[in-house]
This record gives sequence, structure tokens and C-alpha cells, in this order.
Amino acid sequence: MAAILLRKGRVVKIGENTDKTHPRFKRQYADGTWASHMHAEMNVLRFAEPGDEIEVIRFKKCNHEWTMAKPCSLCENEIKKSGIKRVKYTNWDGQWEYLEL
Ligand SMILES: [Zn+2]
Repeated sequence: MAAILLRKGRVVKIGENTDKTHPRFKRQYADGTWASHMHAEMNVLRFAEPGDEIEVIRFKKCNHEWTMAKPCSLCENEIKKSGIKRVKYTNWDGQWEYLEL
């Protein structure tokens, strides 16, 4: 699982999923900010500015094909709050889909 933060078409930050289970609440980063959980999207959202775009990709473990990477509702909310209007993610077939917020 990886999330890529884009600003005007350029990669600003790449985040990975650091918690494979359920969202972990109350986690503090080295820079003093708090995150409600550690999904890949959340890792890049700390660097997001309004108008940025996010791409979320999930790889299947066995053959490294892309699969469903739609942000969960928690992440979707946080993405919305950060001012990002569009999320691009891979669906079950590894095709790009868009989420307009
Ligand atoms: Zn999430």
C-alpha cells in the first residue's frame, strides 16, 4: 500500500501503510503533530496543501499486481479536511479510478 502526494503534477511525498490492522489512535510524530491513524494516505496528508492530489496504490503480495486501494472512510474524511479535491486509486482490476471530494 502506498500513497503519493502530488502538487501540480509533481511528487511531494510518498507514504506507506505502517499499520496493517485497524487504525491506531493518538500517535504523535517526531514533529509534534498527532495522527489518528497510520494508513498510507494519512502519512502523506501531513504534507498536503489545498489543491493537491493523492494517488493510492495497493500491490498484491504474491505477484505485485495492483489491486483495490480506495481510501477508507476515516482517511476520506481527513483527505477532505486537508482541502484535497481528488483522489486517484487502483480498483480490484488494477485500473485507476477517481474519488471526487
Ligand atoms: Zn484509511
